[in-house]
Amino acid sequence: MKICYVVAMEAEAQPFIARYGMRKVENAFAPLPCQLYEAEVNGHTLHVVLNGQQHQRDLVGCEAAVVATLSAIQRLHPDLVINSGTCGAFRAHGADIAQVYIGNGAMFHDRRVPGDDAWGTQSLGNYAVWDGSAALAQTLGLKMGKVTTGSSLDMQPCDLDLIRQHGGELKDMEGAAVGFVCSLLNVPILYVKSVTDLCDSGTETYEEFSRNLNHACEALKVVNEQVIDYLTAK
Ligand code: SAH
Repeated sequence: MKICYVVAMEAEAQPFIARYGMRKVENAFAPLPCQLYEAEVNGHTLHVVLNGQQHQRDLVGCEAAVVATLSAIQRLHPDLVINSGTCGAFRAHGADIAQVYIGNGAMFHDRRVPGDDAWGTQSLGNYAVWDGSAALAQTLGLKMGKVTTGSSLDMQPCDLDLIRQHGGELKDMEGAAVGFVCSLLNVPILYVKSVTDLCDSGTETYEEFSRNLNHACEALKVVNEQVIDYLTAK
């Protein structure tokens, strides 16, 4: 089995890359900035593709996620894409900092496109996840939630309206964009998301995100090891 992680920030992937002693493949996607790491695990191939950097900072957001996912699938032909990273969540839904969730769907929360139902459906996204996601979550004892993706770290009232209306729980900046590419190319996608901030905590998101990033990424690594064990044991 070929498993490919698509990850936005190096901080999110580093504990995992270190755990599996993954090798960096230099200039794998040049001139694109995406970075490739690889390892063999229990006879299966594991890849991590990072969005890469621009202006000396990790590229976050939908555009970079699309470039990375498309490049990864075209070059590596994975059987499963895993979008792993951090997210905001809601205390009102029982979320905690560094809690790791499995996604049960992915949608965009900042696309407001008027028109008929078909335009509305297209702009929301609502991409399906890998059909083994629920069984994996149950076996590992993880909660599931719907990933909602937008281009900003903050949350405007109109974003919250859409999130509420569609039952969004895990707010990020890449998930639905990765899901979009997977939907076009018919590659199953699994979401593994760790909470860095609570959107309804009243604390400034960037401050909360920065404070909890390392802790959330350590928790993410622990769960991703369990995910890999689960997938490669089959
Ligand atoms: N300036 C920040 C950039 C991080 S942007 C820095 O110093 O590192 C936030 C990243 O974490 C994105 O990749 C996004 O997917 C995720 N994220 C975490 N919490 C989020 C939230 N509340 N809303 C949107 N994205 C969030």
